[in-house]
Amino acid sequence: MSFATLGLSEAILRAAQERGYTTPTPIQQQAIPVVLSGVDLLAGAQTGTGKTAAFAMPILHMLSAAGTEAPRGPAIVRALVLVPTRELAAQVEESVQIYGRYLPLRSMTLIGGVKINPQMQKLRRGVDILVATPGRLLDHVQQRSVDLSHVEILVLDEADRMLDMGFIRDIRRILSLLPKQRQNLLFSATFSPEIRALADGLLSNPACIEV
Ligand code: AMP
Repeated sequence: MSFATLGLSEAILRAAQERGYTTPTPIQQQAIPVVLSGVDLLAGAQTGTGKTAAFAMPILHMLSAAGTEAPRGPAIVRALVLVPTRELAAQVEESVQIYGRYLPLRSMTLIGGVKINPQMQKLRRGVDILVATPGRLLDHVQQRSVDLSHVEILVLDEADRMLDMGFIRDIRRILSLLPKQRQNLLFSATFSPEIRALADGLLSNPACIEV
């Protein structure tokens, strides 16, 4: 199986090839066509399986596809990736940059521990793909420096770790700010009753993938 059969655009295939990727990993083979089809996804995948590209590549494809008439204005976010830690945020955004290097899309991270003003200025220019930890994202919500009312795609990455770190209230608050009509992707390494409850409330008729 090759990347070319998955339905991704030339620009993304070229970036993957330059990165040295020849074959999609099992999670990529299964998840990429599903995400491109627009349905919700529940994915069981550990770190190191290639799960980041499994959501980043189809999101880049969909946001750059011809005919998408998305509002792009001050502080408007189109795809939101929530992650548990600053380190993971940096890794995910780096991947988005690498796979999206031939696409005219903007991405950034919102993480705690750094100054908030530069983040505000960057947000104001609009952001296609925002990778954020829940606490700092809610700081920006409070400051009204981010507009989540046009989010088309939501990703919860390492959802089990987010719950372990006590982010459930923050996550629920963020979910309440998103438009009802959107695509939801949940990635988790483990499936506790709490994760299942979160997934049940969040996902509608999801495709389920376990690698
Ligand atoms: P992840 O599970 O997303 O953290 O990815 C783990 C590592 O695998 C990262 O260093 C990726 O750059 C790499 N990787 C992801 N997909 C592929 C692929 N299809 N072929 C080779 N390496 C990959």
